Amino acid sequence: QKVEWAKLVNESTVTSDNHHVELAANIGTPEDVKGVLANGGEGVGLYRTEFLYMGRDQLPTEEEQFEAYKTVLERMESKPVVVRTLDIGGDKELPYLHLPKELNPFLGFRAIRLCLEEQEIFRTQLRALLRASTYGNLKIMFPMIATLDEFRQAKAILLDEKKKLVESGIQVSENIEIGIMVEIPSTAVLADQFAKEVDFFSIGTNDLIQYTMAADRMNERVSYLYQPYNPSILRLVSTVIDAAHKEGKWAGMCGEMAGDPIAIPILLSLGLDEFSMSATSILPARSQIKKLSKEKASSLKEKILSMSTTEEVVDFVQKNL
Ligand code: PEP
Ligand code: MG
Repeated sequence: QKVEWAKLVNESTVTSDNHHVELAANIGTPEDVKGVLANGGEGVGLYRTEFLYMGRDQLPTEEEQFEAYKTVLERMESKPVVVRTLDIGGDKELPYLHLPKELNPFLGFRAIRLCLEEQEIFRTQLRALLRASTYGNLKIMFPMIATLDEFRQAKAILLDEKKKLVESGIQVSENIEIGIMVEIPSTAVLADQFAKEVDFFSIGTNDLIQYTMAADRMNERVSYLYQPYNPSILRLVSTVIDAAHKEGKWAGMCGEMAGDPIAIPILLSLGLDEFSMSATSILPARSQIKKLSKEKASSLKEKILSMSTTEEVVDFVQKNL
């Protein structure tokens, strides 16, 4: 099997009936890019920038961030790189920010909520990203977006920083796509409205599942409720993908589910465009997708979405896809 996978490193990802999907990787540091390329990644679908901020005692400077983003973009050689702006809070703490303890950190002051409030932190990161944008194919996405207003505010701040840079003579790419993570149910439900304003969606199932099922993703006692194939989750995912396509946009997924061999045929049937996963899952996923027919998968979409339990979905998919 390893030998068969190795042969796929330089191939693109096409189904048996010749439909292309993009297989990208999730990374946390510039060093991770080696593994992405060695495993045939077609892009970076999620660069978790919070690692730049963690394990230290002060914020990273604009220069430090610029170097990291530039390195990733250059090493990826103009393949798409989706950078997620700071997603701190929840399980990821930054002691040096001295944020008050919260009763429900996962429902609290985190990610874009913090960035819109602590604007200097956000603006510094955006400037570093914009300055790095000329070194490759940069896409920027905002985490934990719950309302259109948050997206509009974040985008306005990004465009404001861009304007200031351009006015001071610094080059910025004109082709930066601006998207959001869909990991809060309100945003999945309202995806048709978001799709008119964003350039792309990336579905963060790690959080989307925990918020939809109200089951902490770290809590073993409730892990039975953490159900990626629950039809409620699949309907939300499908809503997001359809909304994107209706507006001519693309939809990816960067939660763990995107690299899960049981989920892959389901996601193909729902029409997902980009799958972003840990680098080591890319070749097995490519091998699996090559054997799947997109036509056949698509023809089963309505049937899958009409099911009522996880078990029913898994049983059906294993027998029919
Ligand atoms: C997600 O929520 O699915 C996701 C990819 O983000 P993280 O795991 O970093 O919360
Ligand atoms: Mg998340």
